[in-house]
Amino acid sequence: MHYLNPFAQPGQWYRGNTHTHSSVSDGIRSIAECCEGYRQHKYDFLVLTDHNKVSDVSQYSNESFLAISGSELHPSNPYGGTQYRIFAISIHEEIEVARKHPNEVMAEGAEQRGISVPAHPYWSGHTLLDLLPLHGYFAVEFFNTTCDKSSRSISESRWDDLLGRATPVLGIACDDSHFLYDVYQGWIMVKNSELSLNSITKSFTPGLFYSPPGP
Ligand SMILES: [Zn+2]
Repeated sequence: MHYLNPFAQPGQWYRGNTHTHSSVSDGIRSIAECCEGYRQHKYDFLVLTDHNKVSDVSQYSNESFLAISGSELHPSNPYGGTQYRIFAISIHEEIEVARKHPNEVMAEGAEQRGISVPAHPYWSGHTLLDLLPLHGYFAVEFFNTTCDKSSRSISESRWDDLLGRATPVLGIACDDSHFLYDVYQGWIMVKNSELSLNSITKSFTPGLFYSPPGP
């Protein structure tokens, strides 16, 4: 992958959270409430990633806010660890994960032009044994707000291990919000010239974003 320097690109910064649960799965807020809450906290975009569900969120987008559909998928782990949690950004149809290898699941997401991220490897107890066999993701989650409840928010050491042993991979910070205490703490800043589904999602894989040091 050829990465680009977001600070050297034209455009403006857009703030977004890429991992969000609504009442469609186990979050307490409706999709509309999630979007409104993030919009009021000066976010420009939000990716809805309910567990194994995909919702059409296009009605929540407007000129100044972009809602992106996605899903958190739970393929089983053939390497002995706990099941994987992989969130797919910008997929539009649900993906059946039963009896599928996680790489197959991510490939199906890519067929929908989605992009994948293994979530909270530290919270999952995952090590390189679980992470090295994975292919087809562009970033690994290194900060996850909701995992702070079990003091496992920071997966930075897993990301660092991957950087030492695998091909270059980006890191991403997000909320994984379900409730009201796990919001507005992990986000990314994306550099782009416009706030549209096509342009924002194309910014991810070349690394046209950063995660602020706040978390
Ligand atoms: Zn989640």
